[in-house]
Parts: sequence; structure tokens; C-alpha cells
Amino acid sequence: MARENPNIIITGTPGVGKTTHAEQLARATGFKHLSVNQIVKDEGFHEGKDEETGSWIVDEDKVSPRPPRNPPLASSGGYILDWHACDLFPERWIDLVIVLRCDSTTLYDRLTARGYKGKKLEENMDSEIMQVLLDEAREAYKEEIVVELRSETTEDAEGIWRGWRCG
Ligand code: ADP
Repeated sequence: MARENPNIIITGTPGVGKTTHAEQLARATGFKHLSVNQIVKDEGFHEGKDEETGSWIVDEDKVSPRPPRNPPLASSGGYILDWHACDLFPERWIDLVIVLRCDSTTLYDRLTARGYKGKKLEENMDSEIMQVLLDEAREAYKEEIVVELRSETTEDAEGIWRGWRCG
């Protein structure tokens, strides 16, 4: 069944600008921004925090059955899914995957400003340098729906979605 509107994943290493882009895109299109991180925190879909990295340990069994209980996601679409992994969302629900990328110096500054240090900082920097999320997205979805975008300047974040329309 064809969806009325596309479902779009915005993914990338923490700090690349997923929230920023998802908010801009939601404003431009009227689509619903669904931040998985927020859902995990708000609904307690986690098993506490990793002591070493300070990150939430996500309980994927609790998060993943959620979208089917949310029929518009599969049928009418119009969701912007913001998460630093793509494996939660089955291929059949997804029409476009945007993988945001950022140069190391910029990302380092953003993550340290957020208070990341030690292992957590190192792991995220390595993940971006090794393009882990881009490779994951290319493995999980058809190549032609995976788009890589730079997110280094304000113009990258705001300019791109101005006047953006679907359909
Ligand atoms: P994520 O959701 O991927 O963790 P955020 O959207 O929270 O990333 O962005 C992290 C920080 O970087 C924020 O302070 C945000 O304002 C800044 N930022 C993100 N993208 C850009 C960009 N393209 N240009 C300038 N600053 C950006």
C-alpha cells in the first residue's frame, strides 16, 4: 500500500546535527519529528546508564515494537525518525535515509561542549571517522534511498530544508 507521505530517517553519530536537521525538516514539511532518544528517556525504555560511557543502555525489545502500534507510521507516513542507528526501522516503512556527516574537529568541539569525555568521546569520534552509521544505513536499506549530507555550518542545517517539499 502506498503511503501518503514519506517516512524519513535522519541518522548519524551523536553531535552531527540530527535534532537540528529533524526540527528544520519538520518545520518545512509539517511532518512529525520522532526522536527515539526522547522516547527512550521519557518512557524508560532503557536498562539504566552505562557507567563507563554515561549513555543510556537502550532496551530495544521495548522500543522496537512501538512503531507498529502507531499505524500512521506504516500507513500514512510523514514521520521523521531521529536516532543514531537504523536497525529499529524495517525497510518497508522507510522511504529516505539521511546520514549526516561532520568533520572531526567540528564534531570534537560539539561533543566536548556537550560534556562528552574519555571513552564516550573516543567511541563517538571513532564511529564518525570510520563512517559506521553510513555503512550501517547502506547495509540496511537500498543504496538509492540513502543520502549522505554534510552538517558543519548553519547554512547546511537551515538552508537545505528551506522550501523543501515532498511529493
Ligand atoms: P544530534 O541530534 O545529532 O546529537 P544536535 O542537533 O543536537 O546533534 O547538534 C549538536 C550541536 O551541534 C548543537 O549545538 C547544534 O546546534 C550544533 N549543530 C548541529 N548541526 C549544525 C550545523 N549544520 N551547523 C552548525 N551547528 C550545528
